[in-house]
Amino acid sequence: MTKIAVLGSHSALQILKGAKEEGFETIVVCEKGREKTYKRFGLADEILVLEKFSQLAKEQDRLKDAVLVPHGTLVAKVDLDKLEVPVFGSKKCMKKEVSRKKQQEWFRKAGVRTPEEYEPEGIDRLSIAKFPGARGGHGYFLCRSKEEFEKKSRKLVEKGTLTKEDLENVFIQEYIIGVNFYLTYFNSALKKEVELFGMDRRYETNIDGLARIPAKDQEEISTSYVVVGNTPLVARESLLDQVFEIGEKIVKAEPEMTGPFCIETICTDEMEFIAFEISARIVAGTNLYVQGSPYSYLKYGEGMSMGKRIAREIREALEAGELDKVTS
Ligand code: AMP
Repeated sequence: MTKIAVLGSHSALQILKGAKEEGFETIVVCEKGREKTYKRFGLADEILVLEKFSQLAKEQDRLKDAVLVPHGTLVAKVDLDKLEVPVFGSKKCMKKEVSRKKQQEWFRKAGVRTPEEYEPEGIDRLSIAKFPGARGGHGYFLCRSKEEFEKKSRKLVEKGTLTKEDLENVFIQEYIIGVNFYLTYFNSALKKEVELFGMDRRYETNIDGLARIPAKDQEEISTSYVVVGNTPLVARESLLDQVFEIGEKIVKAEPEMTGPFCIETICTDEMEFIAFEISARIVAGTNLYVQGSPYSYLKYGEGMSMGKRIAREIREALEAGELDKVTS
């Protein structure tokens, strides 16, 4: 009997719930101390406790007969190449999401508009300077020229917010004026169809709080973009064709992109979505929709969360003897 396993963090509760609803036994792998959360909800038939998620590859024998459903923590903490247990979706695409350059190449190949990218000397308009790794939006800042970039980065290094190494790995992008839309899709390898699952916007501190204070007081406050929550969103109905086309182009450019994915966009006042990031697996924004999103309701009726959609694809693949089509 195939089980569904997940690391205990990110969107695990939703994935476990969806797996139970589709009739699977479930395993949650927790870092020591975090198992309490998962016991409380009673959605895991087995709880495996590890010191660190990074040990998963060594302990994967304990996931015999399981399909591992990946999420952001797995991609960030575990060496995907060392996993032999079947992983839902495409490890190749998940590895691409870790590289900003590869994401940009993917957007360009797909013909999906993405912001211009600059070296510090080339900055000639409002741009955002981003830094890699676990800082998750800390220390990002806006600038309009090389001089402003240098001045602001010097200040942040002096304050200890950034290191010199961060500066070497800076990624500078044209800043797009508009509003955020995080578009989530499911590409069914079995049905060969890109489904729109839902939309959300991220709640980012402290940039989303800046508008609550007068402009004269905003100047000294650092612009960080640390994601701390998500709020639901629907798009004007006339924008939906554009939304579907973006998802379909992404899959056409990389047919191995199966299962859930998210395209992070800004919608401009020309009503054009400009994509600045891609996640090649479930994103935490779908946690809003454990009972289904407005769009999944339209397609499936009640109760289709992304976790359940994943479990359904695994169940149908097993029934058809095609698990290899939906895992890597
Ligand atoms: P990221 O680390 O790329 O996810 O960026 C963090 C946040 O910065 C996003 O959620 C957006 O709010 C904002 N952001 C990133 N890139 C851009 C851009 N090119 N134009 C406007 N806002 C952006």
